Amino acid sequence: MEFIRDYADWFYLIGAVLFILTLRGLSGPKTAIAGNRYGMIAMAIAVLTTFFVADHPVIWMIVGAMILGAIVGIARARTVPMTQMPETVALMHSLVGLAAVLIAIAAIIHNNKLVELGPELLAANGVSFHEMSKVHLFELFVGCFVGAITFTASVFAYGKLAAKKWAKTISGGWVKPVQALIFIAMLGFGIHFFLSGSMTSFWAMTALALAFGWVWIAPVGGGDMPVVVSLLNSFSGWAAAGIGFTLENNMLIVAGSLVGSSGAILSYIMCKAMNRSIINVLFGGAMGGAAAPTAGVGEQVQRNYRSGSADDAGFLMSNADSVVIVPGYGMAQGRAQNAVKELANLLKEQGVTVRFAIHPVAGRMPGHMNVLLAEADVPYEDILEMDEINSDFPATDVVLVIGANDVVNPAAKDDPNSPIYGMPILEAHKARTIMVIKRSMATGYAGLDNDLFYNDKTMMVFGDAKKVVEDMTKAINGTGH
Ligand code: NDP
Repeated sequence: MEFIRDYADWFYLIGAVLFILTLRGLSGPKTAIAGNRYGMIAMAIAVLTTFFVADHPVIWMIVGAMILGAIVGIARARTVPMTQMPETVALMHSLVGLAAVLIAIAAIIHNNKLVELGPELLAANGVSFHEMSKVHLFELFVGCFVGAITFTASVFAYGKLAAKKWAKTISGGWVKPVQALIFIAMLGFGIHFFLSGSMTSFWAMTALALAFGWVWIAPVGGGDMPVVVSLLNSFSGWAAAGIGFTLENNMLIVAGSLVGSSGAILSYIMCKAMNRSIINVLFGGAMGGAAAPTAGVGEQVQRNYRSGSADDAGFLMSNADSVVIVPGYGMAQGRAQNAVKELANLLKEQGVTVRFAIHPVAGRMPGHMNVLLAEADVPYEDILEMDEINSDFPATDVVLVIGANDVVNPAAKDDPNSPIYGMPILEAHKARTIMVIKRSMATGYAGLDNDLFYNDKTMMVFGDAKKVVEDMTKAINGTGH
């Protein structure tokens, strides 16, 4: 134990390096498992070292909390379906925010208690005591308000993603002034606390920060929620880093900063892939950008499309030289990934070149499609990112779109009036033949009609993704090549 205390900083350094290796590992599917392992080891080092370094640990409380947390965490991890991952992540961020607030409160109450006892009494009992410095108050102020905002904003994001009734989007002219008022009042009380150490100001600041988190996120349209979740991930990291300063824990500072910066980078990448600016997401209000059901309304003209059966589609594919599969949210919703993999394998056996094209925001969370295809054991070399595959579409015989919609909407390229104009897409419309599996002509996430479905080269195959793909496989098996 003494050994761990003496070398705590070294252990923290090892942990920090392992966290960096974790991020590096997670950047590619082949190294992701190793990355996860580094993360687990780093976390174990961090928790154990902190445990042994603590001054007077109340062991039963810490161990009790850890067991309780582990039970809830394991139970949730085992049961959560992939489609509920984004809201689960949001809920986890809320806990990081809450922890930051509670630690800040504990640190201040602890300090006040020591001040009450008086330096003489403390010295007589061998307790060293330093009055809280301004720097310390500042860290608490920042850690606490960022944590409080993260907490309520994440709870709202969770509610919104899980379609809870209480997570109502708010809108109206009053929203922005109220946001500004709460924010300014929060800063005012925070600054007063910083200057005077007043507890009343501290409580007022915390309460206002909690309120601000809610009114800040409540106007954001459902469509932008995943970007918000990613941003809150970043916030939770900064809150943790702030608390790391308070607790003088280097590991927490490093880990918090890594989470903070990687979350910020991810938010940026998502915004870019959806052609939204972060400012627009956060302060654009309920206009909801891409999420607003803009198209279709008022121009409900009947348009013609072609539909075919799974048998027809299977026949066409088995006679093709190259097939590119574009999965989207519908594949996740229909849990069709294993069936899709079987279809791909069968086509390959028949000499067809089969590849998968992944759009960065296909599905409902970053990497959603990659995770599903990895789960189904699709070889990584068959999975291509948008930039790698886009130039191959014109030479592709068949594109099979499985439950994807917005990410293949050509309006993003051709229609300057479209809300998604400028968003990069998978250029499926350039292939020789396009087949689209979905249940109806309904719009996707962005609420926009999709010209691809009405293209002369397109055949719609209606039905649930899994069922249709299975039928296609059966059809190919029946026909042979
Ligand atoms: P979309 O939401 O655009 O379209 C999915 C399509 O799948 C729907 O049109 C639906 O049509 C169909 N579908 C749903 N369930 C099934 C099923 N069981 N079987 C067959 N089809 C089904 O998905 P995309 O993946 O193309 O695009 C993702 C969208 O999500 C983009 O707008 C993106 O900006 C947004 N987004 C993505 C985030 C991310 O991180 N990945 C984050 C935030 C937003 P039908 O009802 O007719 O079956």
